[in-house]
Amino acid sequence: MSDIDDKELFGQLPASLLCKNLDSGELFANQTCLALFGAESASEDFLQHLEFYDADTRQLLKDTTHPFVTCAQNPNLKIQVRITSNTRNLSCVIQGNLVDVNDQRWVVLYVSSAQNNDLNGSQTENSPLSNHLMFNRLLSGISSQLINVSTDNLDSLIEESLGAFGVFCGVDRCYLFQFSENKEFMDNTHEWVAPGVQSFKADLQGVTTDDLPYFNEIIRREHVFKVPDVSGLPLVATLEKQEFERERIRAVLCVAVHINGELFGFIGCDIIGTPYQWREHDVRYLKLIGEVLSNTLKNLSNKLSLERVTAQLESANKRLTYLANSDGLTGIANRRQFDEALEKAINRGIRDKKSISLLMIDVDHFKRFNDSFGHSAGDKALKKVARALHDCCSQTDDLAARYGGEEFSVVLPETSEEQAQHVAIKIMDAISALAIPFATSPDNNVLTVSIGVAAQTCSTNLTGNELITLADKALYRAKDGGRNRIAVY
Ligand code: GH3
Ligand code: MG
Ligand code: MG
Repeated sequence: MSDIDDKELFGQLPASLLCKNLDSGELFANQTCLALFGAESASEDFLQHLEFYDADTRQLLKDTTHPFVTCAQNPNLKIQVRITSNTRNLSCVIQGNLVDVNDQRWVVLYVSSAQNNDLNGSQTENSPLSNHLMFNRLLSGISSQLINVSTDNLDSLIEESLGAFGVFCGVDRCYLFQFSENKEFMDNTHEWVAPGVQSFKADLQGVTTDDLPYFNEIIRREHVFKVPDVSGLPLVATLEKQEFERERIRAVLCVAVHINGELFGFIGCDIIGTPYQWREHDVRYLKLIGEVLSNTLKNLSNKLSLERVTAQLESANKRLTYLANSDGLTGIANRRQFDEALEKAINRGIRDKKSISLLMIDVDHFKRFNDSFGHSAGDKALKKVARALHDCCSQTDDLAARYGGEEFSVVLPETSEEQAQHVAIKIMDAISALAIPFATSPDNNVLTVSIGVAAQTCSTNLTGNELITLADKALYRAKDGGRNRIAVY
């Protein structure tokens, strides 16, 4: 073996080999390996730029975890890595060994491509049928995951789906862009990058049509933007070419995504380093993934708009109910709500064999109040009285309402006459605490009210109107007795 140069020996082997001389540190790649990466020669540039990433953890393998170390220590070790180079990036399986040639110790890594289809340009192309089968499996896996997706995990699931597809195709980057409402901007909403590949998502927000005019024209008109080699882009695509070169993209494929017949955005993938002749089924696969993702987005956006409309309707209904049931001036319950509450309270009282009480409250000499201070001062006073009545209703089912004009009523379900009298006293106190000045009043120098109390045991004979009549009679007596007082029927 001594008459043959060690590197010459590696070169003659049909396998793809990456080698490191343990004594000098020299790196070497044989011709098969160079071809695998699309590199023309084993330049320093190529060798120095090689990086290894763990396929699962995406960690850069260096120092003690570098395959030149781990594989040399364990010849049985087979590891899945993503190798990045200054030419192209590949998912590979590598296995290594320590070899002595001419008294030189070499670590030799046997590198084989782990890609699922022939995007890697390898000689061992999988049959189209097995590719399609694998793709179908991938697609149905993605679909079934997306079927019950919720808003919370949609983004991560879309990125996972892009990743699964990216790994399947062996591309370097996979992404989804969304157009703005007016279609003048686009945002990179989701992205997956292979281990070791730089992300540009943060840069690609709010990209305008003017930034990439050629791309925008093609994707809108033809729905597929297919570039096998960025260096071959026409002159009109100068801006696109600059952007692709900045991202080191050599081949790119984008397919438009429509939602409800309207252009939503596009899905795309990039290959770094080497040209790639996109084939019919690459386009078809990407389109299918795009459709699955867009359907998910569509369903979710339909669901969200439905939820939004429902919420709007609910709040409109609440507002309408409030408006229908409350008094415009004072904001407390109106006559309509009062009638309903009274009837409900009587029915419940009949069922539970309980009594019910009703207070009718009328502001004293209110005509004169208006005449003295004006209608608007009268309105203000009514609001204060209403608030005070409302605040005196301590039980959850008690209801203070504006019965009409300057007359109010309070429904007190499950309340005895004695308890109702307590509430009436509380109201008298609250009104007197308001101390609304009324110097022109014939009786007092503050605004007062008169209250009529009616309490009845609920029975099928009792109606709301009867109870109102009884309370009204008591109120009349209070007025008659000199106002600013409580009378019980
Ligand atoms: P009494 O003590 O006998 O109840 O005398 P009164 O003046 O309060 O009774 P009357 O029924 O003669 O007058 C009620 C007044 O209440 C007349 C009306 O202008 C006034 N009023 C009714 N509704 C409103 C309102 O919404 N705002 C104002 N400012 N006044 C109102
Ligand atoms: Mg009055
Ligand atoms: Mg009145």
